[in-house]
Amino acid sequence: IIILGIESSCDDTSAAVIKNHTILSNIAASQKIHLEYGGVVPELASRAHQQNIIPVVQKSLSVANIQQKDISAIGFTRGPGLLGSLLVGTSFAKSLAMSLDVPLIEINHLQAHILAHFIDDANPKPPKFPFLCLTVSGGHTMIVLVKDYFEMEIIGKTSDDAAGEAFDKIGKIFDLDYPAGPIVDKLAKLGDENKFKFNKPKIENYDYSFSGIKTSVLYFVQKKEKENPDFVKEHLNDLCASIQKAIVEILMDKLEKAAKDLNINEIAIAGGVSANSGLREAMKRNEEKLGWKTYIPKFEYTTDNAAMIAMVAKLKFERGEFSDIKAVATSRYEI
Ligand code: ATP
Ligand code: FE
Repeated sequence: IIILGIESSCDDTSAAVIKNHTILSNIAASQKIHLEYGGVVPELASRAHQQNIIPVVQKSLSVANIQQKDISAIGFTRGPGLLGSLLVGTSFAKSLAMSLDVPLIEINHLQAHILAHFIDDANPKPPKFPFLCLTVSGGHTMIVLVKDYFEMEIIGKTSDDAAGEAFDKIGKIFDLDYPAGPIVDKLAKLGDENKFKFNKPKIENYDYSFSGIKTSVLYFVQKKEKENPDFVKEHLNDLCASIQKAIVEILMDKLEKAAKDLNINEIAIAGGVSANSGLREAMKRNEEKLGWKTYIPKFEYTTDNAAMIAMVAKLKFERGEFSDIKAVATSRYEI
């Protein structure tokens, strides 16, 4: 069984081929056009998807060394995401499925971030059910109780900004390019994480909030810049290290609480922010400290990619869960 996966929920056009549980290709074209705007412009994103989708799919087939006639099914991201972006991948997947006369399989992008852990080169041993997955990306931050492949329960989530959004917005205060998350991570390695302290939100249960830390960084920087206009430039590494430490601590506090309360020690992270080195180290430390068995995705399966879409399509194919040709893209899609 060979499945083509297509992902176009935000600003990456991606296509991947999976054979059994092995990824044969995972191609992505990321869109540089948004750099000059400091964030993703939906209208430009869908236009860029239209330009990218055919070459990206062709390349994924050629790298996998397969032909269109070898494809058994096509999986596509139905949502959540930007509607205009999703429409490009959805329409393309439908047309190709019709012309090849193969089944179509709709995929939930958030489930895919989590189920990427089951790609065979992602983990030597996949997580065992039930496990907790901290799903942290540009649009979402939540703790998910994963009872089975398609049986997931959100036990805590952010009430305002996502963690990736916090990295990006704080990076913008520092005049860093978009997306700032990876840049903050890189600069943090050169700085002192104990240099500046930022207050953490006080929230009950397993929910998150990141708008407070963003605002306190903004006010702090504005105050300092009154005395020294070059404050950010002179302290950029320490600022990045301190902010990364604060965000990682906020994320881990709730995850640790949930793991303890539910008595689960199989713990995974997923989504773009799971690429963050501070978060990865904090997870690893808890193997020793709390006896966790941790699952940290390979770098290429953290931010948006079609390999995870192909993986989930494969799981649904085995269950005979196919979609109607009338399936529509949806910006909101419950996990
Ligand atoms: P969603 O999956 O919720 O729809 P998305 O698809 O836009 O959102 P992803 O592609 O999964 O999000 O992740 C992108 C986010 O991850 C961005 O906010 C980016 O800054 C952040 N990110 C990527 N690498 C790192 C890193 N090393 N450290 C911190 N943040 C990172
Ligand atoms: Fe994503």
